[in-house]
Amino acid sequence: MKILVINSGSSSVKYQLFQMPEETVIARGLLEKIGEENSLFCQKSIKGEIELKNQIRNHEEGINFIISMLTDSRHGVISSVNEIEGIGHRVVHGGEEFNGSVRITGDVVRKIEAYSDLAPLHNPPNLMGIKATQKYIPGAIQAACFDTAFHQSIPQKAYLYAIPYSLYEQYHIRRYGFHGTSHRYVAMRCASIVREGIHALNMITCHLGNGCSIAAIEKGRSVDTSMGFTPLEGLIMGTRSGDIDPAVMFYLENKGYTCSGLNDLLNKKSGLVGISGVSNDMRNLFQEKENGNPRAALAIDMFCYRLRKYIGSYLAVLKQTDAIIFTGGIGENNAYIRRESLDGLEALGIVFDDARNQNIQRGRDSCISADSSRIKVFVIPTNEELGIAIDTYEIAQRSKQKE
Ligand code: ADP
Repeated sequence: MKILVINSGSSSVKYQLFQMPEETVIARGLLEKIGEENSLFCQKSIKGEIELKNQIRNHEEGINFIISMLTDSRHGVISSVNEIEGIGHRVVHGGEEFNGSVRITGDVVRKIEAYSDLAPLHNPPNLMGIKATQKYIPGAIQAACFDTAFHQSIPQKAYLYAIPYSLYEQYHIRRYGFHGTSHRYVAMRCASIVREGIHALNMITCHLGNGCSIAAIEKGRSVDTSMGFTPLEGLIMGTRSGDIDPAVMFYLENKGYTCSGLNDLLNKKSGLVGISGVSNDMRNLFQEKENGNPRAALAIDMFCYRLRKYIGSYLAVLKQTDAIIFTGGIGENNAYIRRESLDGLEALGIVFDDARNQNIQRGRDSCISADSSRIKVFVIPTNEELGIAIDTYEIAQRSKQKE
């Protein structure tokens, strides 16, 4: 069965076409700068690589263009869109409504629309992708896979903020958590590596990319995560501050900062770039540190310290932990950060193996703890698209059986 996975952002659409259940990627591509004069398109497939510039005015045109390239006589990989039986969409916010991936119906679309209030930058472009594929690939079963869904199992004591309860009732203010597809995917991979059912394992998953979040997973269910009402809370990230005393905002407001200025400050000008003053990219910071830049070194130190603090608190939340997993661009590639966030914790059951940590094979699942370590530590490359393809395949199969 061919499953198309769509990640539709504000000015871009990323996609992958999978053959399922074999989990092979037939084609992957990216359309960027939608709405600009020179939209950029690239696609990689067994037919080779193609890059094009073309004016794509909106998402509907974008999806139509992607379909034309997937079915193109020279570069395409399918002869007709009818070959695509299922389409899985990444949707950022599913609010309290969705605790798993669902088949898209009119009611689901209305609910995603309603949650646009909570994710105004993400849900509307996600919906544009859904509506365009419904128009151009009407025969396919469509599924929505939510970033928030995996964290819906978090108990109330962990998802509520200690502000008046009425604000939760009136405005739904609570911790939602994000990166759920990634946390769930690497947790499932980990279970298959250690040959245990996911429901038998307690894990801490660290997704460290441009955005960073960590999750405590008890017997396969997320019980806490560091991102909150929005992705701003928790770990230090490329441009986001993570945890901060909210009173700093009141103080800065008195100094003349506006609400949107503060939003910009915390989401775009803080984190690694805010501290270092040079870059939000961890690779650049290591380069700068090597060149003797003390603020780059400080940003790296702060990043590791915050991560270590969260790992420690989740060890306490889970009481007994079987595995800690690193994933995301930083988690998969940066041995220094993995070591700095975990070494010296033998008393807590973690025996780090630095040689293993230094010598992992890129793109492969690896164990970086010593054989004697009670808690196993793994590096597991994330694959959110495959996670979405697996869910969509299951939904499509179930729907077909019913029909
Ligand atoms: P996103 O959250 O946008 O998907 P990624 O998961 O690609 O981001 O992570 C981006 C971060 O990963 C950047 O800080 C980058 O420096 C870091 N990173 C990516 N590749 C490497 C690498 N080979 N070595 C060290 N850091 C890397």
